[in-house]
Amino acid sequence: MTDTQYIRDRLNRPMKDLRISVIDQCNFRCTYCMPAEIFGEDYKFLPFKELLSFDEIVRLVEIFAKFGTEKIRITGGEPLLRKNLDQLIKRLYAIDGIKDIAITTNGVFLTKQAKKLKEAGLDRVNLSLDAIEDDVFKEINGRGVKTKPVLKGIEAAQEAGLQVKINMVVKKGLNDSQILPMARYFKGTDVILRFIEFMDVGNHNGWNMNTVVSKQEIIDRINIEMPLEPAEQNYYGEVATRYRYIDGSGEIGVISSVTDSFCGSCTRIRLSADGKLYTCLFATTGYDIKTPLREHASDHQLILELIKLWSGRTDRYSDERAEGKPLKREKIEMSYIGG
Ligand code: SAM
Ligand code: SF4
Ligand code: SF4
Repeated sequence: MTDTQYIRDRLNRPMKDLRISVIDQCNFRCTYCMPAEIFGEDYKFLPFKELLSFDEIVRLVEIFAKFGTEKIRITGGEPLLRKNLDQLIKRLYAIDGIKDIAITTNGVFLTKQAKKLKEAGLDRVNLSLDAIEDDVFKEINGRGVKTKPVLKGIEAAQEAGLQVKINMVVKKGLNDSQILPMARYFKGTDVILRFIEFMDVGNHNGWNMNTVVSKQEIIDRINIEMPLEPAEQNYYGEVATRYRYIDGSGEIGVISSVTDSFCGSCTRIRLSADGKLYTCLFATTGYDIKTPLREHASDHQLILELIKLWSGRTDRYSDERAEGKPLKREKIEMSYIGG
């Protein structure tokens, strides 16, 4: 597929990456994502029959692949809670044109699943770990889980031959004390640590600008102790800005969605677990593709819907935030759409 063959949106951005949320439930209650007060015992998660089946997901991915989608990311909620996920990955891997399958996970269930996921065709894992000290991590994940099961998950993924990156969301006052300990821990290992600026996703995480630790501040803090230099982009649309340790002991990345937004190169489309397509992480409503799927729409009809959706896309929420435009709106939750 040449670059000119992709469908383009109103800002000339090609549709390239598909993120699929396979479940909205999670074993954690990270305070910035699924605060326990909101996502309590009586919270109504999606009933199983509302979730897209593997057959439905595979059919949609076959259509996306025809439009040049090569990269798939599986997410959640916690995607490893979806039963038989390896079987889905095996089927996605077999689709013509799909070249890269990754997963974003909190890692707790990887010790049991890493090997079979790799065998099914999974290439990469982004593992979320927001602190290396147990006390801080226990408070963040809202379930009192220590770092050990996650660190074991990292080991299992590496042993299985999966590429591993670590995602650390940084929220001021919650875990910015962990920036240096995390950098020290992963420096010199094969694992790339990526810091994510805390974002105003969803409606319940108490975000305001004072809770963000900027990319510049993260880099400055690390650079004093472990000198860094900028590294080149790996590919167009890469979300992380890369930095190399000057002493040659690896690299880190920072995803600066707030202080240095990158809407201009956003090529991502997201599919929720209940079959809605979202063209932005900060959207209010999605396009229901499950109904036509379940009403036996032809591939041709589904393709027309997809073209209509993407070619009308104008989303640039983070750029607008940076420009100071008023952005009050009800948004989808991160645990629903998966980041
Ligand atoms: N449960 C899986 C996990 O935690 O990796 C996958 C879903 S989770 C919603 C995907 C990613 O979104 C995680 O790396 C998480 O840290 C990140 N995330 C959640 N809320 C966020 C926020 N408000 N700002 C920035 N990143 C956030
Ligand atoms: Fe669960 Fe991931 Fe959200 Fe944490 S960030 S509550 S692990 S979905
Ligand atoms: Fe893409 Fe929306 Fe994020 Fe901008 S704000 S980078 S359009 S998901």
